[in-house]
Amino acid sequence: MAENKKEMIRVYDAEAKTYKEVEKVKKTAEEWKKELSAAEYHVACEKGTDRPFADDMHKNKRKGQYKCTACGLDLFSSEAKFDSGTGWPSFWQPIDKANVGMQVDKSHGMERTEVYCPRCGAHLGHVFDDGPNPTGQRFCINSSALKFKEAQEKRDDIIKEAQFEKATFAGGCFWCMEPFLEKMKGVISVTAGYIGGDVANPTYEEVSSGETGHAEAVEVVFDPKVVTYAQLLRVMWFNIDPTAVNSQFADHGTQYRTAIFYHNEEQKKLAEDSKKALAGSGKFDKPIVTEIVEATTFYPAEDYHQDYYKKNPVRYNIYHHGSGREQTLNKIWGKERKE
Ligand SMILES: [Zn+2]
Repeated sequence: MAENKKEMIRVYDAEAKTYKEVEKVKKTAEEWKKELSAAEYHVACEKGTDRPFADDMHKNKRKGQYKCTACGLDLFSSEAKFDSGTGWPSFWQPIDKANVGMQVDKSHGMERTEVYCPRCGAHLGHVFDDGPNPTGQRFCINSSALKFKEAQEKRDDIIKEAQFEKATFAGGCFWCMEPFLEKMKGVISVTAGYIGGDVANPTYEEVSSGETGHAEAVEVVFDPKVVTYAQLLRVMWFNIDPTAVNSQFADHGTQYRTAIFYHNEEQKKLAEDSKKALAGSGKFDKPIVTEIVEATTFYPAEDYHQDYYKKNPVRYNIYHHGSGREQTLNKIWGKERKE
């Protein structure tokens, strides 16, 4: 990065329902190109405009937050969304005045007001004064600039309704925890994120500093009729170093501690039993330090961390093999791990 000076801005955090200071995100064009799709880059960095009706976001009526695709800042709530008929997602107000930037745009022979993300500078769209009550404003936003996050309560309802369960594991770098879990039958989804700290909605940079107390972790949604929690535990143990204190392979710091975050008493007991069995297996000559603690709020990581191994296979493989994770684990478990 060209410049490393930290610059903070005060924004509203919709989930925590409070204002907080966040670091501005400054990236070069090259860095953005790596993280964004071509359409997202065109809108965010080149002030492009999506085709109207480009996708279904203009008619999305689900409850949740619309965040900046580039940096994850909360921008608009589903509460202020309306169908403008234009084919672009439209809102009558932002989540908070602090969370959008506005400036005069005299391009294309018109005078309009451009709306941009005050955290990362991404172009979002324009605001017009022909919107509905109570504000009379119409924020006309490109869907490529937005990422929709379903309200958490809603997501939990869906999981409950489908009779799925959640399992949450911290095993060091979350990029490396996703692939083997996603391959398992009965696993519905694996999300990379942060848990176990004391700040709401932490960013990757904040967690990396080690100061928020979070661990990098994965949240697994699984169908217990197809795969059991005990089976997930077994595979998890094969893929971490449970004797390393506040580190995993190439990474060091409390954010890389190993832990099982249980969601109910049954999970707690299974986790404790499996930890005891592991300690008694004779495979390790150092104590098993993996914590077993109750799950607290899990914060999904920024989009570019999800499925990192699929999006950036070359970089992932360099990291994964360079870390020594595979070599170490194969040495401990041999054939057993491959079953
Ligand atoms: Zn942004």
